[in-house]
Amino acid sequence: MTHQICLIPGDGIGPEVTAAAREVIEAAGVAVEWLILPAGAVAAEQYGDVLPPQTIGAIEHYRLALKGPVTTPIGKGFSSVNVHLRKHFKLYAAVRPVRSLTGVKTRFENVDLVVIRENTEGLYSELENEIVPGVVQSLKVVTRVACERIARFAFNYARTRGRKKVTVFHKANIMKRSDGLMLQCTREIHEALAPEILYEELIIDNGCMQLVLDPTRFDVLLLENYNGDVISDLCAGLVGGLGVVPGANIGEDCAIFEAVHGSAPDLAGRGLANPLACIMSGVMMLNHIGESAAAERIKSAYNALLAAGNPDELTGDIGGRATTRQFVEALLRRMG
Ligand code: NAD
Repeated sequence: MTHQICLIPGDGIGPEVTAAAREVIEAAGVAVEWLILPAGAVAAEQYGDVLPPQTIGAIEHYRLALKGPVTTPIGKGFSSVNVHLRKHFKLYAAVRPVRSLTGVKTRFENVDLVVIRENTEGLYSELENEIVPGVVQSLKVVTRVACERIARFAFNYARTRGRKKVTVFHKANIMKRSDGLMLQCTREIHEALAPEILYEELIIDNGCMQLVLDPTRFDVLLLENYNGDVISDLCAGLVGGLGVVPGANIGEDCAIFEAVHGSAPDLAGRGLANPLACIMSGVMMLNHIGESAAAERIKSAYNALLAAGNPDELTGDIGGRATTRQFVEALLRRMG
């Protein structure tokens, strides 16, 4: 069977890492017809729109995409393509597995946690205004519907994956109503849906300290949008950085797979980016569409590649000196 999958190369290191993921997925024997779609500044230049109708239309039709990062201007310019895609397609759950990888040297061993981030509201409502000159407000929007939906997702995820505990990081001591509503909904869903799963709440400042003291005590982390964004990168740092952490944005009937990392302007166009996070996101996508044998083949190959620890086969971010291309070739060799 040939899968039809949307591919958004994005910008910065996006085209390099998505090309790598595409090549590896095809080498694993999966037949894919890729629909290459523009987004971001590149799309704005070419089509006058950061998210042109053909991109939205294709995802609406095929409901599945692999996406590279897209640069978002800081403090000005167009609003985030990523936020727009997640809201438009109601991709309410960001799932980011964070695990220690044999061969990738870090301060910690045996980290195996999953960040689940509410992806559609909170401080990313993009509702900001200047009340009077010099006074600006940014609205944090929290709804019962979204809180219950993400809590249900997290406990279902924990249950189906054999995970034991869900920990919520929050700031409900200060944001009593917004984070308070999230806690209330999460407690209710836990009680009703999965009382056998351990449930824990930590004020986020303490949670961050606990994470860097001993990340192995965590299993599933459940966070609202902004907290989830920040904590995802923190967790990536525990296992070797953004080059090794994949992600999925999941909705009821649509999914977009993308690494946690951004467009890495410092590496863009130099052929030095680590494509593994994007390849791992591709592996998550293959599992999602039932191509688990191919997913396993890729996973075994990159586990073996990392474990071998040859600096000529690993990119700079994980202690090697290989280019993106050399990494991909070493991976393809291991896939036979
Ligand atoms: P970033 O993730 O692009 O980079 C942070 C650091 O991690 C940099 O030092 C970078 O070199 C390194 N890094 C990231 N990915 C790597 C990889 N694959 N291999 C090796 N090193 C890697 O974060 P940033 O610099 O804060 O953001 C750059 C741009 O990306 C911003 O415009 C931001 O809005 C955007 N962004 C997009 C997404 C997305 O499209 N999903 C996510 C995050 C950030």
